[in-house]
Amino acid sequence: MDCIKIKKLEVFAKHGVMPEENVLGQKFVISVELYCDIRKAGQTDNLEYSINYADVAAFIAKKTIENTFQLIEKLAEYLAGEILLNYPLAEKVVVEVEKPWAPVHMPLETVAVSVDRQWHISYLSIGSNLGDKKAHLDMAVERLKQDRQTQVLKVSDYIVTEPVGGVEQDDFLNGAVMLRTLRTPEELLDLIGEIEQEQKRERIIHWGPRTIDLDILLYDQEIVHTERLLIPHVEMANRMFVLEPLAQIAPYARNPLNGDFVIDMKRKLLSE
Ligand code: ATP
Ligand code: CA
Ligand code: CA
Repeated sequence: MDCIKIKKLEVFAKHGVMPEENVLGQKFVISVELYCDIRKAGQTDNLEYSINYADVAAFIAKKTIENTFQLIEKLAEYLAGEILLNYPLAEKVVVEVEKPWAPVHMPLETVAVSVDRQWHISYLSIGSNLGDKKAHLDMAVERLKQDRQTQVLKVSDYIVTEPVGGVEQDDFLNGAVMLRTLRTPEELLDLIGEIEQEQKRERIIHWGPRTIDLDILLYDQEIVHTERLLIPHVEMANRMFVLEPLAQIAPYARNPLNGDFVIDMKRKLLSE
């Protein structure tokens, strides 16, 4: 991917673990790589299609001066997030923070940390079968939109589906959502857990125990296998109520396990 670089921007600021560092301040040297598509800017000679590096440099200096953190890890993390949130053309950033005058009392040139952060694409399945189902799905989508680290790019139509699994219960309303997020898979699971809990609180009062279910179907092309999380979602290829709305918004999203497109999964399930 194309890249815009800002190398060794010097900023006098007050980050550090020692109390005196937070008062006296010292020099920080910041380098940033902004990964973005600048072909159109190259073709048209128009800054509108690129990221203004003068602007980003001023932004970094301002954010570095107006905060006081203990760790340069925190400063680097914070700057990476703020740059991605404020410069939408940037898909990925690498931020390096050097602290050449760090009080380590050793003959070294500098100490530094570097972080590499980027937007991720994820697909969720959402479902409800109690109470005002559409309102519950809408509420979950609204709540996703409110998360500062997450953007909702697409929402499918909601489809009515019959329950599977043999339990006697009302029909479901199911949908799929496409997200752009700075959250890791685990952090995304935390977010959907919070949303489920928030809506469950209302559920306990009004409807009983299950008005909303959000599942992570895909996260970039990552395969995640931890105690809390399996991505791709293990049942996605077996569930028409997942594949139908997902195919509407992302027919060519791929299952990283076997390369199948969503429409392939749907076709295979139909022919079973
Ligand atoms: P199913 O996963 O078969 O659709 P469910 O959604 O009804 O069942 P829940 O009770 O909502 O199951 O979730 C059980 C656990 O599944 C969660 O606590 C979570 O840790 C885990 N889990 C594993 N992989 C995922 C995933 N991809 N998305 C959401 N939860 C997941
Ligand atoms: Ca589920
Ligand atoms: Ca779930």
